[in-house]
Order: sequence, then structure tokens, then C-alpha cells
Amino acid sequence: MNPPRRLVPFFLLFQLALLPAGTLAQLVNTDYHALAEKISRKGLMENYAYALLSRLTRIGPRLTGSPQAAAAVELMRQEMLDLGLENVHLEPTVVGRWVRGEVEEGRLVSSLLGTIPLSICALGGSIATPEDGVQAGVLEVKSFQELQALSDKARGKIIFFNRPMDPTHIDTFQAYSEAAEQRVLGAVEAAKAGGVAALIRSLAFGESDFPHTGLMKYSPDAVQLPSAAISTRGANILSRSLKNDPELIVYLRTSCVTLSPVTSYNVVGEIKGTEKPDEIILLGAHLDSWDLGEGAHDDGAGCAHVIEALRLLKLTDIHPKRTVRGVLYMDEEFGGTGGRDYARSERRKGERHLAAVESDRGGFLPVGFGVGGGDAVERKVQSWHPLLQRLGIYWIKPGGGGVDISPLAESGTVLMEMVPDSQRYFDAHHCSQDVLAAVHPRELELGAIAMAVLGSLLAQEGI
Ligand SMILES: [Zn+2]
Repeated sequence: MNPPRRLVPFFLLFQLALLPAGTLAQLVNTDYHALAEKISRKGLMENYAYALLSRLTRIGPRLTGSPQAAAAVELMRQEMLDLGLENVHLEPTVVGRWVRGEVEEGRLVSSLLGTIPLSICALGGSIATPEDGVQAGVLEVKSFQELQALSDKARGKIIFFNRPMDPTHIDTFQAYSEAAEQRVLGAVEAAKAGGVAALIRSLAFGESDFPHTGLMKYSPDAVQLPSAAISTRGANILSRSLKNDPELIVYLRTSCVTLSPVTSYNVVGEIKGTEKPDEIILLGAHLDSWDLGEGAHDDGAGCAHVIEALRLLKLTDIHPKRTVRGVLYMDEEFGGTGGRDYARSERRKGERHLAAVESDRGGFLPVGFGVGGGDAVERKVQSWHPLLQRLGIYWIKPGGGGVDISPLAESGTVLMEMVPDSQRYFDAHHCSQDVLAAVHPRELELGAIAMAVLGSLLAQEGI
């Protein structure tokens, strides 16, 4: 539809007037406004993304290598077939398998304060404690530097990393990335200092009693120690108690185990391009999840975004010029093997991935897109902002990517990422609260619609 012939909000006309002439001509000549409207109406009428997420979460948590992850692969493959997507197939990837086990116990024992239970969980990849647990005094630190400075006090202790996520960041992912080294490398640093276990403050804001799991790593240079997360409430109790009784003891017991690797799969389906089928616009998310909740936000929501975007493109009869492909990756949480294996598969020969858009920041209201690829690419995507703005997309900024799609950067793919509002994300992230009830159907659907609109523009206009 030609914008001057219809009622458009003033801000839209103003924005269109600011566009470079060529881009404006494209937007006017092509009926993108009508297309975006059609996608949006269809999505909001049908709310399919939430229905799909509901079926996916019913399987239970989809920890990499687990039977539930295998069931999710089959559910999504079948879904793609039922929707009439083309080239639906599985691509194998060998993944590690870690199982939490039945036992997770934590408590502090103090001659002054008594015994207080602590809410803990093993971190992904950790070894278990000995069968009768670990019992030791505690050294609390806020950083690796502080631990090194106090190393004469660390021997034989449980090293308690208690640096909170910085609440002053508006971008909660920034706060997460600044605090995450404690979880990932805490056990290595604790071992180097002579500790007997690592206990990490959960990566969450505020005070709650749910421990948040996540990946931890070992180093060949350091002995392997059991590593666990403690809820933020537990961390506050422990920290306060240590001030009152520095001699208190913490008892930890876990029974997690690493089993042999298994073959799992990325799930792939697409709408073939009518003019340039070998040029691919990839929409990606990860199918595996952590095991304490249902992986609803992380990243069931992303999977629902991807499949719903493809469904909307198919139903609105766009017949994209370039292929729009959905990839549901396996093993983002436990090492990213799915993303790496996809990028280097023999199947990629003869394909050219122009752009990849990842959704792995939850199912909250979408507010922006991060766009890589430099100034010219960013300007081009900025010129499409009027089409996304009515969905609530406030901004398009440089940046973007994600664990799963980043291996495609080597071959020149432009990486992008959908960014939903992040204020509540870390309440649910990697813990028992990441369940379907924490996802709002309309917010989720708007994410899928935004992915569909951006995907259709990329497929028609290239990058
Ligand atoms: Zn994720």
C-alpha cells in the first residue's frame, strides 16, 4: 500500500521523510505496511506461539542429552512438517550428558546461630561431593582478586563467591555478564587457592530462595572441586551469619554425574526462496534448556518465536525471494556444539547465509533489535524501523549475535538479535521459575511477529 494514500501516524510520515530516497522508494513501491499489518493481525488473532510453547514445556526440562531433549527434537520436527515447511530435517551433533541426581543439600551449622538450611543446586558440569558431603569453614569473597589476596585463608575452605549482579545497569544482561565469571570459573579459582568446594551466589537480582544453575568449567591446571549455586536469600543469610560467627561450618551434598556423550540434533525447516533459494535468512533459537524449570523463557520462547515467524510468513503468502530458514539448535547451554556443527556442516556448501537473527533473551515484550555488520547494514535495517515500531520495537542498535549463530560470522553472515524487555528475565533464568506461567501469550506473540516482519524484509530486500 502506498503510504500517502492511507492514514498513517504523523511520526511514521516523519520517519519516512528522513529515509534515503532509494529506501523510501522501496518502502513505497512494496506493500510492506500491508504485509506487516497482515502478519500482526494473524499472529495476534491466533496466538499460536503460546500454544506451541505450551506443548513444548509439557515435555519437561530439555537438558542437553536427556530423553526430554530428544522428545523435543521430535516434537519440533513433526511441527515443522505439519506446518508444511520445506527441507525439514535433523542435523546431528554430539553433546555431553550431565545428570543432576537426587541429592542436593546445603546447611550452615553454627554453635552460636544453630543450623540453618541453605537453598542450593549443583552447577551444570560439576562433579558431585563425596557421598557423605563436604563440610568445611567458609571464606567469602566478592572477586577472584580478593580470593588471591586472601589465599592464605582459603586452604581447606568452601569458597563462597558473593558478588551480586549490579542492579544499577538498565541492561540486565550487562549485569549478568559482569557477574557470570564467578559461576563459570569459580571452581577453578577456588581450587587454585586450596579450597574444597565452590559456592556461588545465584545470578539474579533481589532476594529469592531459588538457586539458579548454569554452566561451570574446569581447567586442566586445577583439581576439580564440587561447585554449587546458592539462592540470593541463602547467600545473604550466609554472609550475615559469617559476620556473627566466622567459625561456622557449611555442609554441602550433591550427587550429579557426567555420563557418556550422546548424539542429538539441530532441527531445521524452511520456506524456500523463489528467486535466490541459496541465499538464506536464518531465524534461530535453542531447543535445549536447563533442568530446574521448563525452559519456557530460555529458550522455549525463542523456539516458539522462530516457528511462529515461519508459520506467519507461510500463511501470509509472501513467497520470499530468499530462503527463510528456522534452526532450533541443540546444546547452547552446555557448550554450543549445535551452533558450531551447523556452521561447519557439509550441508552448508553452496549456501550463503546473508543474515541470522537469534532469539535467546526470553519471551518478554520485544523492544529492540541488535544488528551487526557495520554502518551500512545498520542504516538499511534502521530504514525499516517504521514497520517494526508499531509492534513496540523502540530501537535498532549496533551489536547482536548469540552463542548459536555466532559461528556463522566467519563466513560473513550478518548477525542480529531480538531483544525483549529484560527487567524480569533473571527472575526465571536457569531456575525453577522458568515455567510457562512466567510467559505472557501476547508478549510472546509480538516477539514472533517482530521476527516475521524482520525476516520478510531481509528475505525480500537482502542486506
Ligand atoms: Zn538460552
